Amino acid sequence: MPAIDKNFTATNARCRHILTNGNERWAGVECVRDSGAPWVSWVLLVVCFMLAVPASVPETVSPASAPAQVEVETDMPVVALTFDDGPRASTTGRLLDELALREVPATFFLLGHRIPGNEDLVRRMAAEGHQIGVHTYDHVEVTGLSREDFDLQVGKTRSLLLDILGEGEFWLRPPYGITDAAARQWADSPIVLWSVDPEDWKDQDVGRIVAGVVEHVQDGDIILMHDLYGSSVDAAVQIVDALLGKGYCFVTVEDLLARNGIEAQDGVIYRSGRK
Ligand SMILES: [Zn+2]
Repeated sequence: MPAIDKNFTATNARCRHILTNGNERWAGVECVRDSGAPWVSWVLLVVCFMLAVPASVPETVSPASAPAQVEVETDMPVVALTFDDGPRASTTGRLLDELALREVPATFFLLGHRIPGNEDLVRRMAAEGHQIGVHTYDHVEVTGLSREDFDLQVGKTRSLLLDILGEGEFWLRPPYGITDAAARQWADSPIVLWSVDPEDWKDQDVGRIVAGVVEHVQDGDIILMHDLYGSSVDAAVQIVDALLGKGYCFVTVEDLLARNGIEAQDGVIYRSGRK
């Protein structure tokens, strides 16, 4: 059980019922903080946490007093939080704990060479409703590669993920956001870049990273972060809480595009969920 940040009051729960492609992709129960005895809050949070997993399996679990139909708010600003360069046990595990508490899905672009030994983290990402993509095997630029080398970077990482998860599309985020015509042709998936980059790797200054996102974010943005750093996890938690407080919803990149009527195509670059 992760430590609970006493400052967080909102969760992404109300966004679960956003409809994409006609399917309800979120399920679970409303998780509310209780003002009664401390143990009640703990029990509620544990129950909420357990019921929130796995969020990717459509199901309907509602408190007895909840209405059968949840009204969908279509004017909610919606963003996608993305993390590159993981998985890393110490930081990614804590990030998943914090995201689960808030019922926030994210998108993780993984490095193939970091997957062996972290298979449980990958399974947990999928089970908890996060989107998983490929960030090459060795964090190399995908420009100027032979077809064979491209496959050793992208195809090999996809094969690893398929072995672990059994299925999935695993969209591509190229390191440094750089592609060429050959890479786009060989990508065999949509290519995801970003529209908000707080450069969280640079000085690992949590306050600067949080301000860089919260002050500039807009509806439809794809936010770039890196779950390699403890400071990025701290910043991501503060960003999530600040944006939930401002009425934002968090979805995966795939859902962000679909929700905005964008049909993602192989080899096409997407920087945001805006048309
Ligand atoms: Zn990277």
